[in-house]
Amino acid sequence: MITAGVDIGGTKTLAATVDGTGRIMHRTTTPTDPKAGTSSILAALTGLISAGKATPELPSAIGVGVAAWVTYPEGVVAFAPNLDYEDENVRDAVKRRFGLPVVVENDATAAAWGEKLYGAAKDSDDFLMITIGTGIGGGAVLGGKLYRGHQGFASEFGHMTIDSNGPACACGQRGCLEALASGSAVGRMAREALEPSSSSLLKDLASGDLHSIDGAMVTRAAASGDGLAREILEEAGRFLGIGLFSLTQAFDPELIVVGGGGGDRFLVDAAEKAMTYKLGQKRRAPRVELAKLGNDAGVIGCAALARESL
Ligand SMILES: [Zn+2]
Repeated sequence: MITAGVDIGGTKTLAATVDGTGRIMHRTTTPTDPKAGTSSILAALTGLISAGKATPELPSAIGVGVAAWVTYPEGVVAFAPNLDYEDENVRDAVKRRFGLPVVVENDATAAAWGEKLYGAAKDSDDFLMITIGTGIGGGAVLGGKLYRGHQGFASEFGHMTIDSNGPACACGQRGCLEALASGSAVGRMAREALEPSSSSLLKDLASGDLHSIDGAMVTRAAASGDGLAREILEEAGRFLGIGLFSLTQAFDPELIVVGGGGGDRFLVDAAEKAMTYKLGQKRRAPRVELAKLGNDAGVIGCAALARESL
């Protein structure tokens, strides 16, 4: 039996069929329409199921991961800071189109489950996942079980307040972790830090259009040795470290898995250092590891949740 997983991100939507061992059979990537999240999910699944003609069997169930506060088990998007869902009842929309059982889960929560079953957290029953991309998502496995909270909205680690006077966040608050350490935050920090006179590889990467600088460019520049880009990632990493420190105080995790496209080495190293420093001698810091399934953690986790729902 195979199941399908979909992971909708800010720029692209990944859909894949996955077997019972977590192996991806077929995959498709389609651009996300930021004004029409539900249609983007349906388009990605349609592309997958027609591209999957070579597969001897069709998926038996579908798991969808959304970057949103989504009710569980109803699968209704209640709030999504970075993307519009024109039909917020995502579970019913997918069910109507494909006539299969559907589960809808927060994307980072699904990624945590993927890492628990097949990735970096295989041996841990108490760990947290934090995904860094356009925004910052979170997931928690506590006592070996996926933790969803009362309504399904748990683990929104990106919207913990780090600095109440900090920059505005897409959720309407100020100084959230997402506004200080996400890919979008890193891009903004770079745009603000660059002066006409400063020499940085970022200027070349942006071909002179400084407004186009984003988090991915900063990561690339840092990897090529650019000093300003590294400083910015380290600053964002210190904010992330404050977040990880607070999470450790709240949950006492054995492990924190960092995933998403923005899980940059400079950022994560600075975060781990800041967290460990703040924890001091009083308690042992949790291990910090990069997601093993990389950007596939979400689809693999979604497909597994769909399988478990049958
Ligand atoms: Zn926020």
